[in-house]
Amino acid sequence: MNILVINCGSSSLKYQLIRSETEEVIAKGLCERIGMEGSMITHQPAGGEKVTTESPMPDHTEAIRLVLDRLLDKEVGVIGSLSEIGAVGHRIVHGGEHFAGSVVIDDDVIKAIEECNDLAPLHNPANLIGINACKANMPGVKMVAVFDTAFHQTMPKKAYMYALPYEYYEKYKVRRYGFHGTSHDYVSDRAAALLGKKREDLKIIVCHLGNGASVSAVKEGRSIDTSMGLTPLEGLIMGTRSGDIDPAIISFIAAKEGIDAEKVIGICNKKSGVLGLSGGVSSDFRDLDAAGNDGNQLAIDALETYAYRVAKYIGSYMVAMGGCDVIAFTAGVGENNSKMRAAICEYLEFLGVEIDADKNALRGEETVISKPGNKITVVVVPTNEELAIARETLRLVE
Ligand code: AMP
Repeated sequence: MNILVINCGSSSLKYQLIRSETEEVIAKGLCERIGMEGSMITHQPAGGEKVTTESPMPDHTEAIRLVLDRLLDKEVGVIGSLSEIGAVGHRIVHGGEHFAGSVVIDDDVIKAIEECNDLAPLHNPANLIGINACKANMPGVKMVAVFDTAFHQTMPKKAYMYALPYEYYEKYKVRRYGFHGTSHDYVSDRAAALLGKKREDLKIIVCHLGNGASVSAVKEGRSIDTSMGLTPLEGLIMGTRSGDIDPAIISFIAAKEGIDAEKVIGICNKKSGVLGLSGGVSSDFRDLDAAGNDGNQLAIDALETYAYRVAKYIGSYMVAMGGCDVIAFTAGVGENNSKMRAAICEYLEFLGVEIDADKNALRGEETVISKPGNKITVVVVPTNEELAIARETLRLVE
């Protein structure tokens, strides 16, 4: 069965068509600048060139229509008719406390996702538009919602409660939810498989280090803690997000700069992280490495501060789990930046962790990068959220 995986952002839409029998990607692409001037779609059939076309996309419904148009196109298309799409899997950012797993989408599910709009105002409404657009363009095709938050619903109360007046949890469901769940789930599974073990027998720390970044503690196959919170702003230092800060800083900066709290939160989301720490050099670790090599001290400091924060979280999750068997690195930085992995693992030398420099230099494959005999095994596992969504979709529609 061909499964269309849809990941709607507020002004973008990523898609992949995956053949479930072989798990190969038949085509993939990206719609950008939806609802703006100059919107475009980039489509790539397997083994073919990327084709970018400018085309007006006033909304996500039109974007989905264009995606289907590309998939059916005589030259760059990969299917003969829409009946060749067996199901659609949607990435949904926030499932609140409603969803501890993926579900087949029906009217009740749509309503429950709508109820979480408050918790993810930039993401959930876009995800819902994607669902409705698919419904309009492909009536009758089964659709599945796969939530970023679902994997972390196994966290115990002591891990997800904030020490705020209890009524905020009761009235507004203010608590830690965690994100990147599809990735943490997939990577912990692959890490265990790489060691030839069942993840139920392991204590795994997954470091998803991309533009957004989070760490999770996966004990006996279940997430028991994770660094992102009510929103994806908490936890690690990220590309442009601050991660943990003293909450009193918000009103302090607001008063000093004469702006409101909402604006300061915007700065914490978009102008902070390694971008902010480096004095504006870049949110991209490749640029920071290059600037650091040229002697830019702020870039060097930003990378050091980033590594330190990740190491602190790893340490705290070791205590939370009463030990650790595996540390897994994934996502853009975790998969590609050997220097950053080495810098983080340096903090773990007192635990006997030694990184094999040759293994650490490998790219793009599942690799054990710690030396044989280390009590804690360190691995690199490329994440694949689209494949994980396709697998979930197939499991639920079959
Ligand atoms: P993601 O959000 O997972 O796509 O990760 C994006 C981030 O990964 C980028 O901002 C880069 O900082 C980082 N990244 C991607 N490729 C590389 C690379 N080859 N070397 C170092 N960092 C990389």
